[in-house]
Order: sequence, then structure tokens, then C-alpha cells
Amino acid sequence: MASPAFQITVLGSGTSVGVPTIGCHCEVCTSKDPRDNRLRPSILVSYEGRNILIDTTPDFRAQALRARIDHLDAVIFTHSHADHIMGLDDVRPFNFRQQSRIPIYAAPDTMEAIQRCFPYIFDGIKRESNVPQLDTRLIDGSPFELFGLQFLPVPILHGKATIYGFRFGAAAYLTDHSEIPPASKEMLRDLDVLFLDALRYKPHPTHSTVDHSIATAAELQPRRTFFTHICHDLGHERAESLLPPGVRLAYDGLELRVE
Ligand SMILES: [Zn+2]
Ligand SMILES: [Zn+2]
Ligand SMILES: [Zn+2]
Repeated sequence: MASPAFQITVLGSGTSVGVPTIGCHCEVCTSKDPRDNRLRPSILVSYEGRNILIDTTPDFRAQALRARIDHLDAVIFTHSHADHIMGLDDVRPFNFRQQSRIPIYAAPDTMEAIQRCFPYIFDGIKRESNVPQLDTRLIDGSPFELFGLQFLPVPILHGKATIYGFRFGAAAYLTDHSEIPPASKEMLRDLDVLFLDALRYKPHPTHSTVDHSIATAAELQPRRTFFTHICHDLGHERAESLLPPGVRLAYDGLELRVE
């Protein structure tokens, strides 16, 4: 099956606390470069009139307004950390507009955590006020198709936890990870666009670093690599000037076309 061309919009390129970081007055947190303003990590994949969201960050409302998202066809979750799920309630306006339920895709452990965080969405109790109308769909590691585009879950290690990145067509989005297992690397050949976690320069137990992700890019040889989940240790202009050819820092609002 030929996959449709699609657009990726970076809704957020920042780490869990965002940049600027509350209370911090460092050079990057006070930078005038808009690329140094990083909301929490998320992308939108758009094709043939469909919008697929990966993760609902605590900034989702602001991200949806900024990107002028006017409908939402599905949400895919990478894992259950707060910076990836806490904006889920803000999908309600899409339910109103579309008069339809929205499917959400997640691994069983992630879905359980989402249901614990938002019990009122899933308990089936009729309320006076509106709650998101969602259909849960469990991911088991097999590829699944959304409106003609196949999404392949790619297991990645986020510290001790195994979470999912996703490959779709010639693109892959691997947010939070510290290691990519060899079997998963085999799923990441012949890519046009690869997103990789690159939190900072210093090592971190659950996140990749700039050097580690440069090495991953060199090994996997995608045509274009973009780093994401970036903290305030990296100022966009200077950090990007030090990267090898073909490797760049993502920034909020970045749009990429993938054929
Ligand atoms: Zn994260
Ligand atoms: Zn700072
Ligand atoms: Zn995480």
C-alpha cells in the first residue's frame, strides 16, 4: 500500500517543564529567539484532510490554537508521563465541533494510567457537564492503519521503561528515550525524517543527549534528523550551528512535508 504524502507540524519541542522554565532567568529562558520558546513535546500528522495528534501535552490548548487545528481524527500516545497526557481534557471542543467520538491509541499500561488520571472521562457516569468523548484502542506492537497511513509502534527504552515511538511512511517520531534496541533500529531504515529525543549535553538516566542522538542519526542515516524534547541548556542558534549536516533542532511551529 502506498502511503499518502503528509505534513508534520511540531506543536512542541520542549522538555517536560517547557522552555522558558518557571523561575529560570538563564540566557535561553530569556532569549528573544522564538525558537527558544518550547512547549511540551508533541507533533501533528496531517494528510488528506485528517489530523492525527501524537500526545496531548499540558500545553495542548495553546498548541491547537497556535496551529489553528480545527478538527482531530485520532490521538496516539507514546507513554503516560504527565508532559505527554495532561492536556487530554482539552480535546472536548473537537467533540462538540465534530459531533463524534475520537479514538485514542495507547499501549495497555499507558491507557491504564490515562484512565487513572482522568477517571471521569471513562467511568460511563452521565454528568451535567461535558467530558471528552473518546474510544480507547489498545496498541500491542503491531502496525495499525489510520485513514490510509500505517503507524508502526517502535519500542524504545525510556530509562527502565519501554515506551513507543512511531514510524509512519518515511518518518519516525521517537520522543523520550535513552536507548533504541537493535530490533527497533531495524524498523528505522530508509527514513526521510527522524525525530529524536536530545534533552541536553549532560547525561540523563531516561533521556538521550545531543551526542548520543548524533550517533543514532549517523547510524540510521535518515535524510533529515530533528532533535526534540529539548531543555534550556540548548540555545537554538548556537546548538544548531554545532550539529552535523542533516541534523537540526526542531522548534515549535516547524512544518515538514514528507512524500
Ligand atoms: Zn517527556
Ligand atoms: Zn533557563
Ligand atoms: Zn517521559
